[in-house]
Amino acid sequence: MYNKSRKMDHVHSDIRGPLFKETQKMMSRGIDVLRLNTGNPATFGFEMPESVRSALLSGVDRAVAYCDPQGMPEAREAIRSYHLKRGVKDIEIDDIFIGNGVSELVNMAISALVNDGDEILVPTPCYTLWSNAIYLAGGKPVYYVCDEKDDWNPDLSDMEKKITPKTRAIVIINPNNPTGAVYSKEILQGIVALARKHKLILFSDEIYDRLVMDGVEHIPTATLASDLLCITMNGLSKSHIICGFRCGWMLISGDKKSASDYLLGLYQLAAMRLCSNALTQLVIPAALADEESTKKLLLPGGRLYEQRAAAFREIEKIEGLTCVKNKAAFYIFPKIDIERFGITDDKKFALELLHEKHILIVPGSGFEYTDQAHFRVVMLPEPDALAKAISDIGDFLHKR
Ligand code: PLP
Repeated sequence: MYNKSRKMDHVHSDIRGPLFKETQKMMSRGIDVLRLNTGNPATFGFEMPESVRSALLSGVDRAVAYCDPQGMPEAREAIRSYHLKRGVKDIEIDDIFIGNGVSELVNMAISALVNDGDEILVPTPCYTLWSNAIYLAGGKPVYYVCDEKDDWNPDLSDMEKKITPKTRAIVIINPNNPTGAVYSKEILQGIVALARKHKLILFSDEIYDRLVMDGVEHIPTATLASDLLCITMNGLSKSHIICGFRCGWMLISGDKKSASDYLLGLYQLAAMRLCSNALTQLVIPAALADEESTKKLLLPGGRLYEQRAAAFREIEKIEGLTCVKNKAAFYIFPKIDIERFGITDDKKFALELLHEKHILIVPGSGFEYTDQAHFRVVMLPEPDALAKAISDIGDFLHKR
């Protein structure tokens, strides 16, 4: 018997889990399934900006050798300027680690920190990269509630109640996946105050910070926490439609002096994998200089804006289905009136929907949200196709 490690007991990634495997089987039998499970815009006809393509092609010869374990200096310089412009202070290029996507960096940042039994506060609902990384490192994710009735904002009193002597850090996902919430300054200040009071590290996953709609302001956590150790995650997968490039970074800011041992650990892990993909680092300066390509998707007439409008027009027509409007990213997290429809198991609901309507969604339990009433839809298909999918979901609910 070859068993997986016990550390994997709680690890799950339902975005590509059993429902996705079932979808692959159906597709191999010739059934066309609309896959609304992954936030992977290129698979819905979004294209990477020309700025990114030409930076990659013209720089290719510079990416042949291993580069610095933390990343190419010119790429880190561009990242530094980006965060300075966004108001983060006192940062040098050595405070930046480039990685093979935020996914790799979250694992590194958590592995370098967590001892067995350490607790880290993470949101529910939660993008499970974070909880999985904590489990794998031998730690325990402790879930603080984000409140649907309050626009999915974190509930600060719940957060404080969950802090124990074992708590090491708070994870903030802002803008949020799966809810699309963007937190106000007051909420962020409240979280920062708790971190300050209890001497906790702040991890702020801001990969969707360039994908905010409706003129809402995104506030980087680091700008409110210059006296605390704050680790900001960001990357180009979503904003520049290059998920497959695997291009992300983390920025260490604030109380770096107290963190020299942890930072050494981070460097050791970065060096252990030699460097991250140098090809994708080539595009970082050009991508960060090109804000327009992303912005035009988010304005009226832009694809993401219009797709969201189409989705919400359709949701409003469906009795028993409600959804807090997302302010950012490309996910919606609707709620089903489960009593009305007799639903008790969100995974079963998703499987039946897949079989009957050939639509793949991710049940809320795939985001550590256990009320069985939610599911996530990736709002990346063109408006008409998305509206049809949502209408089909409504039809499925009412006819089952
Ligand atoms: N963080 C959040 C909140 C995400 O939604 C995702 C991907 O969906 C990631 C991180 C991972 O991004 P990357 O492609 O940089 O690994």
